[in-house]
Amino acid sequence: MKAGAVALALAGCAALVAAAPSFAEAAFELKPLGPGVYAAIDRQGKAGANAGFVIGSEAVAVVDSFFREDAARALLVEIRKLTPLPIRYVINTHHHIDHVSGNRLFAEAGATLVAQRQVLDWLQPENLRLVGGDKASEARKRQVAGLKAPQLGYEQQLSLDLGGRRILLQHLAGHTGGDTAVWVADAQVLFLGDLMWRASVPNLIDARVQRWIPTLDALNTLPAGAAVVPGHGEMANLADMRNFRDYLRDLQTQVDAALAQPGEAEQRQQQVLDVLRARYGQWAYFEGLARANVRDMFAEAEGRKRTPEPQPAPSLPMPAPAGR
Ligand SMILES: [Zn+2]
Repeated sequence: MKAGAVALALAGCAALVAAAPSFAEAAFELKPLGPGVYAAIDRQGKAGANAGFVIGSEAVAVVDSFFREDAARALLVEIRKLTPLPIRYVINTHHHIDHVSGNRLFAEAGATLVAQRQVLDWLQPENLRLVGGDKASEARKRQVAGLKAPQLGYEQQLSLDLGGRRILLQHLAGHTGGDTAVWVADAQVLFLGDLMWRASVPNLIDARVQRWIPTLDALNTLPAGAAVVPGHGEMANLADMRNFRDYLRDLQTQVDAALAQPGEAEQRQQQVLDVLRARYGQWAYFEGLARANVRDMFAEAEGRKRTPEPQPAPSLPMPAPAGR
């Protein structure tokens, strides 16, 4: 992928425009979702992505660490206002730079960084590729070089004890091949990272849409009142998740239909884009990412898609919620 396309795709995923440090406090909105469960919802790209945290009776777990380290620092301050308990874990939902840039800060505060095992290997090389490789700016190369990789990897599933409550990390397929969903059963809150974008066109750079759709279908069996924290966009519910699944399914269906007809690549791509625009033109990042989504979907459908390898085993469905 050309550097320009990568920059465009990242623009949808993270704010590349530098903001003054004083913006940090306003970088996200903290939303209580249940006792000791909070989402940190990005404000207009200032934090670069959503994050959150869960407080147990003995320890805290943070989910994702933003694109901007000063936003991560602000999150640490907010956690400290609520509890003096140690931040024992930071879970990375996937390796993309807009979700891991505060890792070092939390590690220095004593946290163990946890992710699906692929993320440990991918953090440096795949993020360097994502920002444009050799063509990336020096500042961006430095940011990638400074990323701290997770220390603890798991394969399919991992349960973490925070004292009085356990949270479940479940590997699911779709967005990158190293995605983790975090299920807080006692509060019925699901942190989905970039497996879920609310009313937003996603970044498909490393995605397998064919695997992603069944993942979202499986999650639809969660309790109807479950709260879903997306990687980007406002707080969501299962209906929002179905809408997002529909976007991916429409993209795939339209591309498959276009491939069944004769036509020039450019013309086919434009046809699919026009159909998507009629249905999803109001979604965030449509102008920045939809055209790249169409190109990525054609590449996947034609077996030309380059994604980080190796791809992991098929995902398991999310287990039914358990009590404390
Ligand atoms: Zn993201």
